[in-house]
Amino acid sequence: MTDTMKCPTCNSEHAYQDRDLWVCPECGHEWSGAADAVADTAQAAGVRDANGNLLADGDSVIVIKDLKIKGSSSVVKGGTKVRNIRLQDASDGHDIACKIDGIGAMNLKSEFVRKA
Ligand SMILES: [Zn+2]
Repeated sequence: MTDTMKCPTCNSEHAYQDRDLWVCPECGHEWSGAADAVADTAQAAGVRDANGNLLADGDSVIVIKDLKIKGSSSVVKGGTKVRNIRLQDASDGHDIACKIDGIGAMNLKSEFVRKA
């Protein structure tokens, strides 16, 4: 996809890539290319549950497998319903912040829950 980018300003097909930037020779517009596009795509993809459904703040989810809680002997049982989740950025994959009855505040991985 090095020579098929159209200029977002004038729609010219003659834009070319210069390092991280795309440059349009017809109107002079410059914009950033691939790196930002990838980041935008990841964000647009959102946080999805085990079934691929999009999750949102305030959703209720159900834990689909027993989850051992790090640093404690407690286990969140599969089938536990979790209300009012909050989505968060997490480099370790724990992208859901929530509070579980009897356990307290914790972080879950979206791949281990499904939308209630
Ligand atoms: Zn242009």
